[in-house]
Amino acid sequence: MEPIDWIDEQLDRLRQADLYRELPPPLGEVGAYCEVGWRKLMNFASNDYLGLAADPRVVEAAARSLNHDGCGRGASPLICGRASGHSVLEQQLAEFEGTEAALLFPSGFAANAGTIPALVDEGDAIYSDAQNHASIVDGCRLSRAKTHIYPHKDVDALVGLLAEANHYRRKLIVTDSLFSMGGDLAPLPQLGELAERHSAMLMVDEAHATGVFGAGGRGVVEYFAAAAPQLHEQVHVRVGTLSKALGAAGGFVCGTKSLIEWLTNRARSYVFSTAQPAVSAAAASVALTIVEEEPQRRRDLLTTAARLRDQLRQQGWHVGASASQIIPLRIGSAQQTMQLAHQLRHRGIWIPGIRPPSVPAEGSLLRLSLSASHTDAMIEEVLDALDSCRPAVALSGSQRGKRT
Ligand SMILES: *Cc1c(COP(=O)(O)O)cnc(C)c1O
Repeated sequence: MEPIDWIDEQLDRLRQADLYRELPPPLGEVGAYCEVGWRKLMNFASNDYLGLAADPRVVEAAARSLNHDGCGRGASPLICGRASGHSVLEQQLAEFEGTEAALLFPSGFAANAGTIPALVDEGDAIYSDAQNHASIVDGCRLSRAKTHIYPHKDVDALVGLLAEANHYRRKLIVTDSLFSMGGDLAPLPQLGELAERHSAMLMVDEAHATGVFGAGGRGVVEYFAAAAPQLHEQVHVRVGTLSKALGAAGGFVCGTKSLIEWLTNRARSYVFSTAQPAVSAAAASVALTIVEEEPQRRRDLLTTAARLRDQLRQQGWHVGASASQIIPLRIGSAQQTMQLAHQLRHRGIWIPGIRPPSVPAEGSLLRLSLSASHTDAMIEEVLDALDSCRPAVALSGSQRGKRT
């Protein structure tokens, strides 16, 4: 027995529990379809919500940047890694979000993992939604603040926790705006009010919502601010990613000039990590312009998503509180979920099965993510396939909706 042999035992346990994860085959271009080996599958797995990852305008901007700026940046932004494209995009993001300044991180994960510990420390408190993204969870762990996890979207529970928070130095409420597995929205207007009443900082991660929600594509804050304009001032820290609807790679934080200066000094994932390739910034820059100039993309996407959710409910699927382009089909058992994903793949459709630890035990689901690049015909095909696979998952009679 070698000291490292415990790993094989643990891997066996994962396999026995249907929780073992394997990389899918490497793919070419991300789009409505993907080539997996010799097969072409409809891709309902990616977060390329606006179909911009392979948009010729985005790709062309990236190619120009590659020729001009080269590949790697050679150092962190504070040393010599910052390219002119980074500075252009930061300016553009700040204007887009309506904030004083913005800062680019190597990834959205790095943005959360670096920002939270820069904001709170020992003697401070964090209030974090139970379904927040793993990068927020890790950011909380890395800060030495006392982390209170409130039940998913449970504003009353949060009120109770904040009532006992007077002895903390600083307070931070942190939430995803659009939850990555449930596709549901955080109660941002209520969180904004609570943050204000308790003098807490409010940090909102718009990773799945940037480019998709709100009249201008700024996200769920903008969406709710249409009826509650004070929300804009109540959110102090806005996090986003370039990696999803913007079709590139990298993360960002927007806020006051002081916040950005502080993060430049203190966010360890910014200070101690090489700057993202300029290619990503150049691509995201063009994608952001497309988001501003082509609002029809996000409107059509959300309209199609609403229609698809209705149709799925009619078929008897449980899509929970999804209000977005992320549509979970809740199954429960990891084994059934993976079986179903497998069946669908046989029919040429890729909808990934999501198992613990991405979701709670017995909370396994198929995560269907819709993109502006999917055609109506593809959506019809997915509905047909799901309708014929459905009996295999034994949805209980009482829970099934009426067939039409
Ligand atoms: C995907 C995601 C991230 C991480 O962003 P990357 O750019 O992929 O690292 C952060 N927060 C949330 C809510 C996400 O869904």
